[in-house]
Amino acid sequence: MEDGTTIAAARETILEPAREIPVARRTQVLVVGAGAGGYPAAIRAARHGAEVLLIERHPVVGGTGPMSFVTEFLSCENISGILREVQQRLAAHDAAPAEFLPEYFNLAYDPEMLKLVILDMLVESGVDLLLNTQVVDVIMDGDAVKGVIIENKSGRQAILADVIVDASGDADVASRAGAAMHPREAPQPMMMLCRMGGIDWQRLQAHAHANPDDFSKLWGVPPNVLDGAQFVHVTGWKSLVLQGKEEGALPGTFGHHISVFGATPANLRNGIGYLYAVQVLNRDPTDAADLTGAEIEGRRRARDFLPFVKRIPGMEQAFLIDMAPQIGVRDSRRIVGDYTLTRDDIFAETRFDDEIALKVYRGPDLKGWVRHKPDGSEGGKGHDPADLPLSVVVLGLPYRCLLPAGIENLIVSGKTVSFDNEAHQRIRLMPECMAMGEAAGAAAALAARDGLPPRRIDPAAVRALLAEGGLNLERAKVRLSEVRQTLASRGINVVMP
Ligand SMILES: Cc1cc2nc3c(=O)[nH]c(=O)nc-3n(C[C@H](O)[C@H](O)[C@H](O)COP(=O)(O)OP(=O)(O)OC[C@H]3O[C@@H](n4cnc5c(N)ncnc54)[C@H](O)[C@@H]3O)c2cc1C
Repeated sequence: MEDGTTIAAARETILEPAREIPVARRTQVLVVGAGAGGYPAAIRAARHGAEVLLIERHPVVGGTGPMSFVTEFLSCENISGILREVQQRLAAHDAAPAEFLPEYFNLAYDPEMLKLVILDMLVESGVDLLLNTQVVDVIMDGDAVKGVIIENKSGRQAILADVIVDASGDADVASRAGAAMHPREAPQPMMMLCRMGGIDWQRLQAHAHANPDDFSKLWGVPPNVLDGAQFVHVTGWKSLVLQGKEEGALPGTFGHHISVFGATPANLRNGIGYLYAVQVLNRDPTDAADLTGAEIEGRRRARDFLPFVKRIPGMEQAFLIDMAPQIGVRDSRRIVGDYTLTRDDIFAETRFDDEIALKVYRGPDLKGWVRHKPDGSEGGKGHDPADLPLSVVVLGLPYRCLLPAGIENLIVSGKTVSFDNEAHQRIRLMPECMAMGEAAGAAAALAARDGLPPRRIDPAAVRALLAEGGLNLERAKVRLSEVRQTLASRGINVVMP
């Protein structure tokens, strides 16, 4: 303990001496985290005239999408705003389809190019970036967050800001500020995704067409054709998975299906795709040791799974290109906000005066139903959403879900906003995280401009800025009947209004 550097054993503590640290920057808007909830916030705030600093702990931007190989924007029925711009910029680099019909909901993209597209948009919008920098604490004045403490190669420093957007994916800032959190009732499995080469997509598709009962009707083929635009995903091989479990080639906790996804036009041409299959159960992403364990378990399980993949017709020659740099974390802390969106709000299509995003949700209206169960039994019989009557609804997300109760100067964006467990299982995809990010950015710019706390901003003014930026907030423009018809044409039991 003489040099003060000994790692404390559990419950042992040391006193960290107080010290003076430099204020590295003052800014109007500080965004923490450059994932789906963060980069749109920074871009939107800067485009509305605010001075913006974006801090990211990784050397690259994009968050879970590119870092964990979640290579499809899912649920893009209301594609607009920054997501539409991202799609068009990706398409210009052959990294996503150029045409995208909203009634088909998966938009596949190349993760490497997404990082660059986001970087371009940030730089062009005038956002200042600080990469390889971790936010480690907050600076408080009573209930108000006034800034953060960072650590990076330059040491420990302070950043002061008029308004802070916490898009850390773990609500790190809100948590350090003492915000109340919802309990994590049913931890959703983490996943280790693999990028594969040598995929014969034609054979994959032919096998799925020949064995439709073995595949999900919802996720791509059958009965349609993989085209890199509307159909980008194959989910099934249910009997193969069952056989693997019976033989002991797959662990009992393995889900009930395998997905091969991310079929952009370029990936279809080049035999590349992403394996979505390897789950890690019951881990806490806010516990460093547990998260380390999840990374180790995920990589080792993925390695052990790879020989099995060769049993898939069309994957005999498949080879691993790389595993995702970071395990995919579906859920973490969730703040208790000024309003908590519930699963009942979703199916009642509750309307809110302060709606800052519209999302189409299609799923079974069953109380207690969740897609990602803690025991990993995703996709099991009677559990594949495509086997159940699907409600298709448009829901609005209220601005108040982004405001941590009792804490000032802080807006939370992304998967950690105030939703109950069942709502969160349904609404935490990249498109809605991006829309929340746009709203957080617009609100932060207004708050900084007018010298008001984010809680006192007029949501109508936020909505006006979002509409000006191209985000669709009009229900009449969401092609809901086309979505329902498209699903029904694929043999799915859609609940018609
Ligand atoms: C296995 C899996 C499958 C999924 N499937 C889909 C799908 O098919 N389609 C879809 O649209 N969505 C899908 N999702 C959901 C979606 O990917 C996430 O909900 C979404 O990307 C979350 O974005 P976020 O910005 O809230 O958080 P994150 O993506 O986690 O971004 C947080 C960012 O903050 C940074 N950060 C964290 N802490 C700090 C700190 N203290 N200081 C500085 N920086 C920090 C991180 O490095 C990261 O860049 C899936 C998720 C998983 C895990």
